[in-house]
Amino acid sequence: MGARVAAIVPAAGKGERLGGGTPKALRSLGGRPMLVRSVEALRRAESVSQIIVAAPPTLVEVVAQMLGRDVDVIAGGAERVDSVRRALAAVDDDVSVVLVHDAARPLTPPALVDAVAAAVIAGHPAVIPVLALADTVKEVGPDGRVIRTPPRDGLRAVQTPQGFRRDVLAAAYALTDVPVTDDAGLVEALGIPVTTVPGAQEAFKVTQPPDLVLAEALLARAAASDGRGDADGCATDVGRGAEARRGTEARRSG
Ligand code: C5P
Repeated sequence: MGARVAAIVPAAGKGERLGGGTPKALRSLGGRPMLVRSVEALRRAESVSQIIVAAPPTLVEVVAQMLGRDVDVIAGGAERVDSVRRALAAVDDDVSVVLVHDAARPLTPPALVDAVAAAVIAGHPAVIPVLALADTVKEVGPDGRVIRTPPRDGLRAVQTPQGFRRDVLAAAYALTDVPVTDDAGLVEALGIPVTTVPGAQEAFKVTQPPDLVLAEALLARAAASDGRGDADGCATDVGRGAEARRGTEARRSG
């Protein structure tokens, strides 16, 4: 039997940068909450067999109803790391690969989820999807003055899902007080190699109000090209590729 893969979605934050008062993950996007769309990408991925969502403690029931019975919804903690730690404790015993995925990446292609999981299953202890940068990046001091300009060729923007051997992620989350902005950063702190796979433009993070406009526009375009009134699920080109692949496999085995 192949490795079982669990996906954790920390969605217990307030998401205040987006405004609007609702927790960011529950904001509607093309008629469905962003979290529902992000979970749908994981559900459509062939590799994922367990999905665990960390919700705001007061909204566990609401989120569980919203997502359906195939998703395990738990109460998140005070910080993102606490939410992921709690979710890790809910991973099934026979799971050997764990993905961590942002609730705020609602258009992530299922094929990207499978590519990350496949690279971990192939033997890499930690795998992250990355994209080259369009902008030049500067390191800037507290006084606003530029300290240095790292060469852009060597820089990458990091997306999710990030994938890990279960024991590696557990060891990373046993660390305390390591200031990092992504899960792989904790693994790097352990000295364990982190491998990259190509990311996907559609997997962008919805953070600022203009990101919502872009996401809505992409969903509307996908709905129009599907000839449907509703932009359902994750109808990106890559996502459709995964669906097509599944259809082919189903026909082969049927
Ligand atoms: O606020 P920030 O963008 O850093 O949050 C990143 C992710 O971590 C979001 O999906 C948010 O819902 C989640 N989070 C969490 N538990 C917290 C804080 C943030 O699951 N206590």
